[in-house]
Amino acid sequence: MSYATLLQDPRWHEKRQEALQFHGNACGHCGTASSLQVHHPRYMRGRMPWQYRVSELEVLCRACHEQEHPRQTLRSNLQNRLNALLLGKELSEQHRSEITALQAALRVLK
Ligand SMILES: [Zn+2]
Ligand SMILES: [Zn+2]
Repeated sequence: MSYATLLQDPRWHEKRQEALQFHGNACGHCGTASSLQVHHPRYMRGRMPWQYRVSELEVLCRACHEQEHPRQTLRSNLQNRLNALLLGKELSEQHRSEITALQAALRVLK
């Protein structure tokens, strides 16, 4: 089943309404109340879109939502690279400076 199909599910519609209410019917980034969408900041493997607490969901307007997705992908790519480096046994000087740069980038992306 595709993700788009899952979002047609009545259980998602209900959860979405709950999330909008919980977050005050406003975009969590810019505060607008128009074209609101519900975003999953952290996807958990094996959970359906509606199997999240409303506090685990974020309300974003369409513009902020479109910005958030590439950011989320970038953040998880950087985090994976950082984790791989931190697991490495012998870190060269170059690796150490890459780690510092990755940590700085992740702080900015939060
Ligand atoms: Zn917004
Ligand atoms: Zn999203």
